[in-house]
Amino acid sequence: MNCINHPFEAAVSQCQHCGKGLCIECTSRFSKPICPECFSASRKKQKRAVVIEILLTLLIGLPVGIILGLLVNDSFKTPDNLWESHFFLMYMGLGLVAGWKTLTRITPQVFLFLPILGWVFYFLIKAIMSLFVGLVAFPIRTIRNMVLLFK
Ligand SMILES: [Zn+2]
Ligand SMILES: [Zn+2]
Repeated sequence: MNCINHPFEAAVSQCQHCGKGLCIECTSRFSKPICPECFSASRKKQKRAVVIEILLTLLIGLPVGIILGLLVNDSFKTPDNLWESHFFLMYMGLGLVAGWKTLTRITPQVFLFLPILGWVFYFLIKAIMSLFVGLVAFPIRTIRNMVLLFK
């Protein structure tokens, strides 16, 4: 088999996605053996995932933050820190999607075998945990997403 880009060079590896041959030069072009077509396809997929995450953050995270702000400020109205707590809770809500995604990556798959009630419980616990994980994960994921989107 010869290289997909250089028909006169012998292939030393194969694209991890489609199995096309790659020569020495093409194998070391990216961090893993991948042909240019599959590379740009996976880049496109990554970018789409980032855009979806940003949309979810704005459509779910932001409203959750605003609702949290309204709920908390209604029950503990203290004019001194009204804006501070509003701002913090909105930030917390914005981090919901980032926290959720981080938890999905680290949670073991055993949860998949839960009964329906377990699922509802799991969903609630995960949503609450996401709010806290998101406090840290949101800025980290936002930077990572921006890098992915613009590189
Ligand atoms: Zn390929
Ligand atoms: Zn080549």
